[in-house]
Amino acid sequence: MSLHRLLYLSTGRPDLAYPDLRDIMAKSEVNNERDGITGILCFGNNRFVQALEGDRKQISETYARILNDPRHTDPELVEFGPIDCRAFTKWSMRLIQWDINEPATIRDIRMKYCSGALFDPSTMNAKQCLSLLMDMHALQG
Ligand code: FAD
Repeated sequence: MSLHRLLYLSTGRPDLAYPDLRDIMAKSEVNNERDGITGILCFGNNRFVQALEGDRKQISETYARILNDPRHTDPELVEFGPIDCRAFTKWSMRLIQWDINEPATIRDIRMKYCSGALFDPSTMNAKQCLSLLMDMHALQG
């Protein structure tokens, strides 16, 4: 057993709809609880950024399943490595969705890390992705 964290980005399928996100979350919560994985998934502007934490082998297996999922494309591994402790202990998985009705607190986090007007994690480095997700985790406490 070795505690690791994986961060990746991807793009949602163009016709991705709310029921798809609900289905992804329902499956993630069950599977991740079973596998000792914790994390967070942010979605906005049709882009995903996700953190997965837990045992290296379990994360590898989960990421392999995620890569095969036709509901998103263009996966980009941002970071995968050992960690001393988890940053996302609150949830097996939690979806945070960015939309045009975002509250000021969420807007502030978006503006803190995004170079443009839209939520776009592809413009962020690994440290910024992690900080954004940690800010969201703290906010959603
Ligand atoms: P089943 O649910 O039985 O699925 C079997 C196969 O069918 C899988 O290949 C699955 O991808 C595919 N499938 C299932 N439903 C659909 C559908 N509605 N449309 C198209 N294909 C479908 N899973 C996790 O376990 N943990 C996560 O943290 C996680 N995060 C995800 C993040 C993103 C952005 C996406 C797109 C998916 C995520 N998933 C996650 C889901 C993951 O991709 C798999 O669908 C899921 O793990 C498969 O679960 P299962 O083995 O129990 O198989």
